[in-house]
Amino acid sequence: MKETRKGMLIVISGPSGTGKGTLCKRLLHEDTSLCFSVSCTTRAKRDGEIDGVHYHFISENQYDALLQQNKFLENATVHGHRYGTLETPVDEIIERGQNVLLDIDPQGALKVMEKRKDCVSIFILPPSYDALRVRLHTRNTDDPKEIKRRLNNARGEVDKLNKYQYAVVNDDLQMAYEKLSHIISAEKQRTTRYFPVVEDF
Ligand code: ADP
Ligand code: 5GP
Repeated sequence: MKETRKGMLIVISGPSGTGKGTLCKRLLHEDTSLCFSVSCTTRAKRDGEIDGVHYHFISENQYDALLQQNKFLENATVHGHRYGTLETPVDEIIERGQNVLLDIDPQGALKVMEKRKDCVSIFILPPSYDALRVRLHTRNTDDPKEIKRRLNNARGEVDKLNKYQYAVVNDDLQMAYEKLSHIISAEKQRTTRYFPVVEDF
């Protein structure tokens, strides 16, 4: 059977600490059709983060220049830092038939949904705000003031849930991963992006 595919844009969003990064890492490991969109950010690099792998860590001036040149598919100020998705790499991945995974905040996700109507939008929910608080503390990447800020923003972000096509509660990690993986598998089979050709005699 001959078949061709058009790549898809998958937007994964939700409050900080809900498990987006953990789930995306696993998806990328298990599914070679997926490519991660490396965002630009002006926030400081955390221990263990690699420039060009986790983020493109750039200065405020570099960010301003990219903004002025209209290089971002979307950009937003999130918890006091600036983040943006570069448009060209996203389009290059889609053109070669692969799928792009965006791990971005809800402000950016809504902008992508508006600009790219054919994207797949998935919101990852925590089982409770208390679980979210515990996860942010356990991750140990942000100071208590920053954690408070992220938790305060979480409720407003969850309010935007109905703008997304899919919702996945990340309570049990394995179950959440399976749900996410099933959504992606089904979306791959849409006739708008999957073109099988039945061979003749
Ligand atoms: P996000 O990328 O959404 O900010 P992370 O993936 O960094 O969140 O996860 C935040 C913390 O929660 C990490 O320490 C991660 O190991 C933990 N975590 C993720 N999923 C679960 C889960 N289902 N149950 C318990 N802890 C989880
Ligand atoms: P962190 O600083 O913890 O890596 O990320 C903070 C938040 O910024 C997370 O919700 C993450 O999804 C979001 N984020 C990361 N990259 C981008 C991006 O390019 N655009 C937008 N809008 N948000 C992003």
